[in-house]
Amino acid sequence: IERMDKAGADYMHLDVMDGHFVPNLTFGAPVIKAVRKYTDKPFDVHLMISNPLDYAEDFAKAGADIICFHSECDSDTEETINKILSLGKKAGLAIKPATPIDEVVKYLDKLSMVLVMTVEPGFGGQSFMESTMPKVEAIRKINPDIDIEVDGGINAETIKIAAKAGANVFVAGSAVFKSENPAETIAILRKNAQDAQ
Ligand code: ZN
Repeated sequence: IERMDKAGADYMHLDVMDGHFVPNLTFGAPVIKAVRKYTDKPFDVHLMISNPLDYAEDFAKAGADIICFHSECDSDTEETINKILSLGKKAGLAIKPATPIDEVVKYLDKLSMVLVMTVEPGFGGQSFMESTMPKVEAIRKINPDIDIEVDGGINAETIKIAAKAGANVFVAGSAVFKSENPAETIAILRKNAQDAQ
């Protein structure tokens, strides 16, 4: 986190997986709390968990700034958004590649961010699915101001495609963490996104 902070990342995107909503298991609120002190950058917490409603408060207390959960989870979407907002945090709603945008569009008024997954959630290192771009374009058409985040397979090339479609928040995992020079990689990603917008 310190390395990425110094390299110029705008946000820290933290992928929480519960081994149930997705087959993989990562970390929960205690780890987020433990790393919160290493940066002042916003914590964008992506909950790939079945029951975000019951855990939203833990993540808020742990230091999340944006709490993003999946429309496909078991919790009631509206109730979970309201819970996050009541905790004084920004709410984000994520959709998997096969989920239509109707699932997020009805909540746009309350959301700070929509996360369009550009891979199937669950594991890092997957290839970008360009087939998800019409969803980004459609959401951008409906709302010119909301943050549209893309997550999965973002690199110096795919970021151009996503930016052109209307995305403005880009999650880069492998591209940045496996780079020998993350600062240079982030600068290239930012330039490519700006040039394509
Ligand atoms: Zn994520």
